Amino acid sequence: MSPRAAYAEARGLVSLIKDSAAKSVIATHKLRNDITILEGSGGNVAVLAGKDGLVMIDAGIGVSRPQMTQALSALSSEPVTHLINTHWHFDHADGNAWIGEGGAKIIAHENTRKYLSQVQRVEDWDYNFVPLEHSGVPTQVFSKEHSLKLNGQSLAMKHYGPAHTDGDISVMFGEADVLHVGDTYWNGIYPFIDYSTGGSIDGMIAASDANLAASTSKTIIIPGHGNPVSNRAELQEFRDMLVTIRENVAALKRQGHSRDEAVAAKPTASFDAKWGNFVIDPGFFTRLVYAGV
Ligand SMILES: [Zn+2]
Repeated sequence: MSPRAAYAEARGLVSLIKDSAAKSVIATHKLRNDITILEGSGGNVAVLAGKDGLVMIDAGIGVSRPQMTQALSALSSEPVTHLINTHWHFDHADGNAWIGEGGAKIIAHENTRKYLSQVQRVEDWDYNFVPLEHSGVPTQVFSKEHSLKLNGQSLAMKHYGPAHTDGDISVMFGEADVLHVGDTYWNGIYPFIDYSTGGSIDGMIAASDANLAASTSKTIIIPGHGNPVSNRAELQEFRDMLVTIRENVAALKRQGHSRDEAVAAKPTASFDAKWGNFVIDPGFFTRLVYAGV
């Protein structure tokens, strides 16, 4: 596929993802300590319920508001009081606007607020995202770490440094031992890497190492995309896939192969049956890795 055709296809994906979220039913996965995952509106959303109100990790896509409202009210009659964004991408932060309108405090990394406040181009999607409405812009930002105690849980937020973007954070629910890692981890599918806002393959690998260091075999790990209830063993497999493909693509680049030649050499081949069946197909993923080695 020519780069132009690939971009056109990718641009269509934004509409495709929005249309699918508008129709999609929200699936509810109960974890432990009143933590639930809501799946079906863009990225995986985590919700912590309790007397301090609902605490959401990511907001999904705005068009899912009716289904999301219904899923939230099935968990608790409390309003959403806090929303934490793992990063700025529309499939995680587009719902900020309606949740912010309801008075929720919105917390994020400072780079996330920057990207949500301006016209932001994503080169690999050939797409310009417009700024969020004022109600959706984070009200509180931090640069390295931030912690909160809500509903009996110690919430520890941590910036990765450059990873999938340069504003990704993890959120650890301490007592429950549940870790939301945003889009630094796509469970069972090739990940997108957003070079336009500071992401890179090496940053993704470094973030995977940080996630492995922050978890044990008992930790429930919530990926940004893919099967929403995951664990350290599956995360390790994701990390090893990234490292092997990075080495394969770097070897081709060192030998002087162009990007298209690298794609044609199929450096992801042994992983494609398992990882190549979602939005980021083997060719797209190879191009993303090539850009960073
Ligand atoms: Zn993302």
